[in-house]
Amino acid sequence: MSETPIFRQARLYKTSARLRQLGRFALFLCLPVMALLLSFPRDGRVVQPPAWWGYLFLLFVAICMAGIWGDVLIATFMKCDRCGRRPTLVWSLKYPQRMSEWQAIREFFFPSEMRSRTFTCAQCGARFRLA
Ligand SMILES: [Zn+2]
Repeated sequence: MSETPIFRQARLYKTSARLRQLGRFALFLCLPVMALLLSFPRDGRVVQPPAWWGYLFLLFVAICMAGIWGDVLIATFMKCDRCGRRPTLVWSLKYPQRMSEWQAIREFFFPSEMRSRTFTCAQCGARFRLA
């Protein structure tokens, strides 16, 4: 098999993937922020968090939204070197390969494309290297 070519827009791909990671971490970090609610004084069944909690929560939600939408926005500018279509955007999801829960969690936060520095175009199946 011939050597895997380097993706011409590798930088764009990596930025897009990093933003997705950032968005996912921010989403995950919303959980401990929510858990903080348990430590605030209650008025009967109603928790009354201080104002800074609201800002903290909104900050993580904003980072999450910015990360995910930034990822999608950048992904629209990428073009596959072989087929010319967008290599990471698909309308219908393929059935994912079977993996354990831990693998799935690792895949969610640290995608294998970023670990192996290669990826496959979702449209034509061409493999590329991320330099
Ligand atoms: Zn392609």
